[in-house]
Amino acid sequence: MSRYLITSAIPYVNGVKHLGNLVGSMLPADVYARFRRAQGHEVMYLCGTDDHGTPVEIASQKEGTPTAEFVKHWHAFQANIYKNFGLSFDHFGSSSNPQNHALTQHLARKLMENNLLEVRTEEMLYSEADKRFLPDRYVEGTCPHCAYDKARGDQCENCGRVLDPTDLLTPRSAISGSTALELRKTSHLYFKQSQLVPTLQAWIDKQTHWPDMSRGIAKKWLQEGLQDRGITRDIQWGVPVPKDIADHFNAPDLANKVFYVWFDAPIAYIAAAEELANLNGETPQGDIPLSPTPKSWWMPDEPQLTSSPSEPSPSGGENGISQERAAQRTSSYVSSADSRKDILHPEGDGTSVTYTQFMGKDNVYFHTMSFPATLFGSGENWKQVTTLKSFSWLTYYGGKFSTSQGVGIFTDAALRLNPLSTEDSPLLLEEGAPHPLPNWADYWRYYLMARAPENDDSAFTWEDFAQTVNKDLANVLGNFINRTLQLTHKNFGDTIPAQPTWGVAEEALVGKLTTLIASYTAHMGAMEFRKSQEKLREIWTLGNEYLAEQEPWKVIKEDKERAATILSVAIHLIPLFARLASPFIPESSKLIAALTSSEDKALPKEGKIKEALQNLQNKTFTLPTGVLFPQLSDDIIARCKVEFKAPPDSAKSP
Ligand SMILES: [Zn+2]
Repeated sequence: MSRYLITSAIPYVNGVKHLGNLVGSMLPADVYARFRRAQGHEVMYLCGTDDHGTPVEIASQKEGTPTAEFVKHWHAFQANIYKNFGLSFDHFGSSSNPQNHALTQHLARKLMENNLLEVRTEEMLYSEADKRFLPDRYVEGTCPHCAYDKARGDQCENCGRVLDPTDLLTPRSAISGSTALELRKTSHLYFKQSQLVPTLQAWIDKQTHWPDMSRGIAKKWLQEGLQDRGITRDIQWGVPVPKDIADHFNAPDLANKVFYVWFDAPIAYIAAAEELANLNGETPQGDIPLSPTPKSWWMPDEPQLTSSPSEPSPSGGENGISQERAAQRTSSYVSSADSRKDILHPEGDGTSVTYTQFMGKDNVYFHTMSFPATLFGSGENWKQVTTLKSFSWLTYYGGKFSTSQGVGIFTDAALRLNPLSTEDSPLLLEEGAPHPLPNWADYWRYYLMARAPENDDSAFTWEDFAQTVNKDLANVLGNFINRTLQLTHKNFGDTIPAQPTWGVAEEALVGKLTTLIASYTAHMGAMEFRKSQEKLREIWTLGNEYLAEQEPWKVIKEDKERAATILSVAIHLIPLFARLASPFIPESSKLIAALTSSEDKALPKEGKIKEALQNLQNKTFTLPTGVLFPQLSDDIIARCKVEFKAPPDSAKSP
């Protein structure tokens, strides 16, 4: 058993996220977490909301709600949506909780002790109209790199560049719109991360197993030169700079400032584990504000790995690494890593931790540079990321999904969509109303993972959504299950028949399944989700092919024993398909497995496939009470296109 620490980028707490946010980090992280759990590994999957920062303060002020109350509301709102999407966080934390405050202040102190902080007096934009300094998003203006005119003071949404407010051309206040801004002096804490460049460079150089996108972005940052960064802000909402740090620098006004949101946000991953531990009654011991269980994940008692237990990409090529190289790298700390199987199923000693982060490509900087720099700079033995899986963008018919512009599909609306609605009933259910399809979220999960923007951008279209789920879930998987169970029920009642004529066809089926499952497992392990889903589809198709070739509906007329064997084997495929599908469509998998009295949730191990096709003989099964995967009709899709403002002339998928 190995230990997998998994995090997905923490979303800003304010507002509802769109499907692009979901598929760009949380959903693939969940698929991966479920896969590793199903393999029998120990998993800690953490996420939470990013509660601090100027957008939150601005939004709560505009609404006239105290910021803490505003944050609580949206945290609960988002947590509920993710629960309904089946996201299986071990804990969904909140960066404004005391655990994150304590950890952030602790790490800042460590940086100070290691002489990596300094106070700099700088000129900042001050708004006379607003009577305050304007950090980050309190300033908007034109991007100096791409001329986008709605760029924010911290980052340009259009070209992705990280900005300082003073970089913006024609800056204006985001609060009042005033352009009467002037530069005034203010003191801030700076993190001298440029001093950590050699450490970061050496560390990044060793991450040859990272996907190209993640590694490329990290290298670009190092080439461009890593600047020291201000890590405090002139706002009220955030983790306060502790008085001892202000005293150390003899700069009392620092105690009126808070840490920059990007300093404390990634630390919230660690804090989420601590929140969970505190809920379980654990308390921190020693100098670090971390209880024993989170400590075993975030400061595991293991040597600092010079490399990582990555897995070879089964597809090879640019994104992959050769088996030999992977074995060489792995052999330094996994003594039995002399075969492909061991690399694919690292059987750790239960103490070493593999840490994988999932995020959109715009967040890679913070996770390859500033967060690792914080952890390295502390001088403490914090777990650094093992593999960083980054994603491009999901587009809406080729255009941008945008929270600020209201373009695309939002996560709450996606869940409230009722595909069974008629002309007389609303397309969107009331908030909180039960959904008529218990596995509706799986339609989204399945489709979004089929189009996960793993390399290039990927387009969402309603036509493609309908085509994909109708074909794969309804026609391939749903039909196979229904056909098999109905035919067996009609001829043999409610008992899964025995298999007196197991033979050549069945052995051939076991062979094909073994090959495809190995491929599926390898792609999943390498986080090549689209490829693993293709293999899953091929595995499902084997069921229909087996029935079409063996024709039990004909055989039954002459050879009842043979027909019983065929249908029994086919029924055994059903829970096997469900187990393999469970990372993608967990709720459906539960419903499907329940039809066949199967209780096994683990992924089938190599060499155990034959057993999986035989171990339910003489047990009972039940028929589905309704259609497992109702099709999305043309009419529903036409209505969705109107409701969600699909671009005109988009009848054909791009
Ligand atoms: Zn730009």
